[in-house]
Amino acid sequence: MKLLKHRLCIDFVNTLGWRGREVPVEHLKTYNDLIKWSRQVGIITPQDANKLLQKADRHPAEGKKALNSAVDLRETIHRIFAAIIERQKPAKEDLAAFNSYLAKTMVPSQIIETKDGFDWDSNGDKSKMDWVLNPIIRSAADLLVSNELKKVKSCSDPTCGWLFLDISRNQSRRWCDMKDCGNRAKASRFYRKKQLLKKNKSAML
Ligand SMILES: [Zn+2]
Repeated sequence: MKLLKHRLCIDFVNTLGWRGREVPVEHLKTYNDLIKWSRQVGIITPQDANKLLQKADRHPAEGKKALNSAVDLRETIHRIFAAIIERQKPAKEDLAAFNSYLAKTMVPSQIIETKDGFDWDSNGDKSKMDWVLNPIIRSAADLLVSNELKKVKSCSDPTCGWLFLDISRNQSRRWCDMKDCGNRAKASRFYRKKQLLKKNKSAML
C-alpha cells in the first residue's frame, strides 16, 4: 500500500483507508498482511518475516491474537491523534490503553550504538509474534512528546481520513497527498466552477 513516510505510526494508522466511507478499506486483514506491511516499512527483515510467518502457520490462534492487538493499537493511536487534531483531550481510557502497550515495550528496550551515536532499540524478543508493534508504539510515543505533534493533521477530504504530518513551511497543507486527494479536490472544484459558468450562461440567454 501507499506510504507517506512521515512517521511510522502515521503510516500505521493509515492502514485503514477511507475512514469516512461507509465501508473503510482495511489493509490489515490477516497476520500475513501485518508482516507484509512491516516489511514494506522496513521494520522487519525478510528472514525474520519468514520465521514469523512459519510460526503463524503452526500457531494460527497466536497470529490472530497478534493481528487483533495490531488493529486495537492502531485504533487507539488513531483516536488519540484524532482528539488532538480536534484540539480536545484524548479519552483517559485510550491514553491508559496506549500506556499499557508502551509499558510492555519499555522493559526490553535498550540503547544501542549507531553510526552517528545512539538510538533506542525497542524491538524486544523477535520470536514474539507481535514484536513488530513495538517500533510503532515507540514511534507514536515519540511523536506525542515531540514539538511536531501540532503538525499532525487529518486529510481535508473527510472520506479519506488519512493522517499526515504537515512539514510545509507555512503549515498550510490540507491533503494527505497532493497527488491524489489534492488533485481530486482540484478537479472537483474545476468541475463545479464549470457547471456554475454553464448555469450563469444559460441564465443570461
Ligand atoms: Zn487524503
